[in-house]
Amino acid sequence: MFARRLLTGVHRTVIPNERKSTAVTDSESEPGSKRAQRQLDRETKRALALELLDHLEVDELDLSAVIDRIETVTTSPSLTREILDTAETRGLISRDGARIHTRRGGSFVRFESQVVTREGEFQCRRCGAGLSAGHFIRFEAGELGPFGSSCIRKVVGREE
Ligand SMILES: [Zn+2]
Repeated sequence: MFARRLLTGVHRTVIPNERKSTAVTDSESEPGSKRAQRQLDRETKRALALELLDHLEVDELDLSAVIDRIETVTTSPSLTREILDTAETRGLISRDGARIHTRRGGSFVRFESQVVTREGEFQCRRCGAGLSAGHFIRFEAGELGPFGSSCIRKVVGREE
């Protein structure tokens, strides 16, 4: 009995005469769990943003342009600051006033192998535009996207 409870613990213990509330929980958790896949945790966001900074295809960018990229991963100002500090500590970027120099010879995103395109209804993570196909960058820490075709070029730093 107890072991069975543990097994079903994720869905909360089912008490026979509380079926109603169980059903409510299920219907709430279903769209919630879909959302959860989109909601990246802080560690994953940090890792993704650092990989993104490591893959930028330009030598230097304005700080605002760099933040624009980071904002595709997180909109939290504190996490953005943390990411910038970590990137600087690790030597991925160096700051020169409002200009950010990226590490030369960083590993550029290889579009053919690292960007996947999926058909479907998406919303661009950068500009919010509706898309019929989403571009996703596959990083070690996970996927970043979806992006439209022009935004993905900006995100990887091909265009400023
Ligand atoms: Zn876009």
